[in-house]
Amino acid sequence: MEKKQFQAESKRLLEMMINSIYSQKEIFLRELISNSSDAIDKIYYRALTDDTLTFNKEGYYIKVTADKESRTLKISDTGIGMTKEELENNLGIIAKSGSLAFKTENESKDGHDIIGQFGVGFYSAFMVADTVTVLTKPIGSEEAYLWKSDGADGYTIETAEKDSVGTEIVLTIKENTEDESYDEYLDEFRLKSIIKKYSDFIRYPIKMDSTES
Ligand code: ADP
Ligand code: MG
Repeated sequence: MEKKQFQAESKRLLEMMINSIYSQKEIFLRELISNSSDAIDKIYYRALTDDTLTFNKEGYYIKVTADKESRTLKISDTGIGMTKEELENNLGIIAKSGSLAFKTENESKDGHDIIGQFGVGFYSAFMVADTVTVLTKPIGSEEAYLWKSDGADGYTIETAEKDSVGTEIVLTIKENTEDESYDEYLDEFRLKSIIKKYSDFIRYPIKMDSTES
């Protein structure tokens, strides 16, 4: 399987994320949940104009699942999903280079607030994860795709199986280091409080499903 490289700008942001000394790593969850919420919005707006689609509110939610055993944290949604092209374009390239330039420029001055104020998006997952996989099935497609990256050296995309439309993002949480603990991102209580702190306004249900071990 061919490994593709991130676009230069994405690479810079990724490196910032991976080597981040930023103290509020917890905001990665806000970013992923907000993407899931955006993806559900898209299916909602699509349903307004497409008679073949009905938006059944009960069927739309975000689910956060922590598994200490496998050290994985999964954020899944019943949103619109991504086509292969969208995976390439949305996760491999950063379109909003203007805001990235702003972030990079200001980061050295005050690394703390910038990330908090302006969402850094999907890549913030690499602040807490060694590996990120994105399994997604776009609306109107029989095929699903698996995007996988361990950060700096690129990503792969392959076809995969997924029952329902939507996206599942799985983070393999970093091992604790001498001066940094990552275990907390697998702790249900801690995750709940992060969700309460940053994602309380999200208008779709956020379910918590933890595998105790
Ligand atoms: P932003 O949300 O500001 O566009 P992100 O880096 O957070 O930037 O996300 C990049 C893009 O990846 C999103 O705009 C969206 O198109 C796509 N994306 C990310 N997560 C999801 C998801 N859960 N479902 C569908 N698309 C997603
Ligand atoms: Mg986002």
